[in-house]
Amino acid sequence: MADLKALCMKCRDSNRKPTMQTMTSPVVTKNDKGRYSVKGKCANCGGNMFKFLSEADAKALM
Ligand SMILES: [Zn+2]
Repeated sequence: MADLKALCMKCRDSNRKPTMQTMTSPVVTKNDKGRYSVKGKCANCGGNMFKFLSEADAKALM
């Protein structure tokens, strides 16, 4: 699987902006509106991560 990256709200840069981090143990879910999202953990700090996915991205992860 390709690395999945998401913004981590805990890992901030020197300008206090969230930074892109690799997501580990991603779990893809689909909500009742047919929208895909993925939950996982930040490889850097272990914090929870969440991001919306396109259908194509979600299927590539499943
Ligand atoms: Zn983090």
